[in-house]
Amino acid sequence: MTESTYKCVNCGEKASALYRTYGPSVLKLTKCENCKGVVDKYIEYDPVIVMIDLVLMSKEAQRHIIYNTEFKSYWKLFIILIMLETYGVWRNDSLFNIVINTVCDIRNNSTINSTHITLPIKISVPEPWSSDCKGWVQEDKEAMDLFIWEKDFYIQFLSIFAGITVFITTIHLLMKFFKNFCFQNEVSLISLMKSFSLSNMSLLFTLPMLVWGNNDTPPETRILHYLMVFIYSFVFFYNVFRVLYESPKTVTAFILSISYFAKYMTTFHMTPFIRRITS
Ligand SMILES: [Zn+2]
Repeated sequence: MTESTYKCVNCGEKASALYRTYGPSVLKLTKCENCKGVVDKYIEYDPVIVMIDLVLMSKEAQRHIIYNTEFKSYWKLFIILIMLETYGVWRNDSLFNIVINTVCDIRNNSTINSTHITLPIKISVPEPWSSDCKGWVQEDKEAMDLFIWEKDFYIQFLSIFAGITVFITTIHLLMKFFKNFCFQNEVSLISLMKSFSLSNMSLLFTLPMLVWGNNDTPPETRILHYLMVFIYSFVFFYNVFRVLYESPKTVTAFILSISYFAKYMTTFHMTPFIRRITS
């Protein structure tokens, strides 16, 4: 890591160093030239405190992780979190599945956890979509060969990986495009990947439902839980991208909404597509 990549956690101004040493046991934290505050107070803090501040979406803690730590293992986190997301979708147990089950009118076919909302009006899905809807109808897993069941996990993994690739690409390209109109930070792909992995940790809040949820869990509880996690996750991404790109609020919210839409659309079309070419 080169020295110039450090940033003040309070204002985002570049800093040459986080601390200076005066002898073997004397260490002095650097002051920011812009806001006169300590550049990074978190280097003295316990990691647990940093984690708590991250959960509370503190911008200072986010800057600390993205700019002032090495955070080398972000790609491990990236893969583990994709696996977690895959597990939810594979079990038919996520907000994304609930939306698909509702829009495509897929009823419970004794597969675990197919939550479905009965809409007051019937949505008729137009043609190119309705055939992909059929691709989401899951076979009864009890009667299914274990090998096919496992294969389905890899298919969902690829599909979600494609969705996330589209998500990151959409954000990066749209931010580049909007850079022509409003002030923005120059962001490298690695910083973007680190920020993505950091924000995606909000997915961990789906764990209680994935672990303890069962067939007796009321659908309303399930929907409420996943909806709250989604909103938290959206706000988390919004905050991290505001810190990363320093773009205006409306632009960030707009780009994030489009990227989410692109991600879920990709996964929706990708799963039936991979199932078709691998069957
Ligand atoms: Zn500062």
